[in-house]
Amino acid sequence: MSPDAVVVGSGPNGLAAAITLARAGVSTLVREAQAVGGGLRSADLTLPGFTHDVCSAVHPLALTSPVFRSLPLADHGLEWIQPPAALAHPFDDGSAAVLERSLDQTARGLGPGGDDWRRLHAPFVGVWDRLSHDVLAPPLRPPRHPFLMARFALRGLRSATGLARGLHGERARALFAGNAAHSFLPLESPGSGAFGLLLSVAGHAVGWPIPRGGSQHVADALAAYFRSLGGEIVTGAPVEHLDELRPARVVLLDLSPRQVLRLAGEKLSGGYRRALTRYRFGAAAFKLDWALDGPVPWTAEACTRAATVHLGGTLEEVAASEAAHNSGTVHQRPFVLFVQPTLFDGSRAPDGRHTAWAYCHVPNRYTGDVSERIEQQVERFAPGFRDRVLARSVLTPADLERRNANLIGGDINGGMMDLRQVFARPVARPTPYRTPLKGVYLCSASTPPGGGVHGMCGYHAARVALADLR
Ligand SMILES: Cc1cc2nc3c(=O)[nH]c(=O)nc-3n(C[C@H](O)[C@H](O)[C@H](O)COP(=O)(O)OP(=O)(O)OC[C@H]3O[C@@H](n4cnc5c(N)ncnc54)[C@H](O)[C@@H]3O)c2cc1C
Repeated sequence: MSPDAVVVGSGPNGLAAAITLARAGVSTLVREAQAVGGGLRSADLTLPGFTHDVCSAVHPLALTSPVFRSLPLADHGLEWIQPPAALAHPFDDGSAAVLERSLDQTARGLGPGGDDWRRLHAPFVGVWDRLSHDVLAPPLRPPRHPFLMARFALRGLRSATGLARGLHGERARALFAGNAAHSFLPLESPGSGAFGLLLSVAGHAVGWPIPRGGSQHVADALAAYFRSLGGEIVTGAPVEHLDELRPARVVLLDLSPRQVLRLAGEKLSGGYRRALTRYRFGAAAFKLDWALDGPVPWTAEACTRAATVHLGGTLEEVAASEAAHNSGTVHQRPFVLFVQPTLFDGSRAPDGRHTAWAYCHVPNRYTGDVSERIEQQVERFAPGFRDRVLARSVLTPADLERRNANLIGGDINGGMMDLRQVFARPVARPTPYRTPLKGVYLCSASTPPGGGVHGMCGYHAARVALADLR
């Protein structure tokens, strides 16, 4: 019998959508072009026995997500590991700023900027549960907690450099800048401050955890729970045209607007088609993974307390790096996001061996090779790192897109996350998930609240679909 609903794509949003439908009693099939998981896949990218996260690695948003928190994922094999600190940010003098779980401990380590750090983040840490509900909801709907959201927006709408310069001292400014740089935006742009604020507050409130065994375990737990509800997943089954999915009453597309145009462009009305065509993709990731014969030899001891390490030096340097890729080049010393999961999860490599994951930002569809610059940034803060490398994997923007068709030109967020596209994602409506085609919905990171592993795009889209079904 054919299912009532088909979800195309098994990324975190596709799986969250499928689970939401299945939980409501709708028979649901997921069709996936590759293996299960989208941005949650792990693979032996370097040597046998070394497990690497191909895309996402660190999951403050998954732990925050209202939908993931409502699911019995631990019963399906998911275990979170919390490193002692969320994040370390080393400097050339051999010290490091550390985003600790405790706001006070973080502030104590930031010298003159400590009190400013506390003042900026304290209003949101204790109320993260409430705030995250609104931050992870469609932006054109009335928030559940309007005063709290207004307070957050007043700060978050500012530029990252504006907010960072309000903090005293290089250490606090650099720590904030590194978090804001996750936006891929120029740090002078309005709204870039929100990313810094969001990730810092999440670090204090829920930590920056990693899943035991690799991110694939998040996908596998979601898939196992979905199957326990009677759902079916077919892998290695790319959908080429929307017509293949009929007679399902509901179709949810965990795809970017570019793919939706390819699958169904001729069926879409002119206005909607134009909106999808105008939708902009952002800068790309250039990614390296390493198999190592020992832990990373950091100069700053504090870097061994966190899975995530931001390699970029001062606020000015991070801002210059983000400005470079936004104007079509790559900085000589690019800001590098670095993760060392095996310090806290020995299951991912043979005994005594380690893995590391890193990427820097490059222009969309960049064809150059920045491996050398990335490794020089690691060497800068961990001299001798290269002597520990047993094997490396290089994933260019084109490689990333080959592995997952949603990563257009290497964009990892499903489209640029500037202020305009936070609100028009991909269209400026309170329910941007509906398409003009009856029963067809978008549910990927190209809808609100956007990129990251939280599943909330899928959850919101499925709720709209369920309401329409009824
Ligand atoms: C290098 C990198 C690092 C990242 N790091 C982090 C991180 O540390 N933390 C974090 O929270 N987020 C991170 N992200 C972002 C996160 O992975 C994405 O935002 C998230 O996976 C988006 O989920 P999604 O369900 O919208 O799409 P995806 O996860 O991209 O899933 C889309 C799925 O659709 C499938 N598909 C595409 N076309 C078709 C078709 N025609 N037919 C059938 N199936 C199709 C794809 O194969 C894929 O499985 C990272 C991403 C990358 C690439």
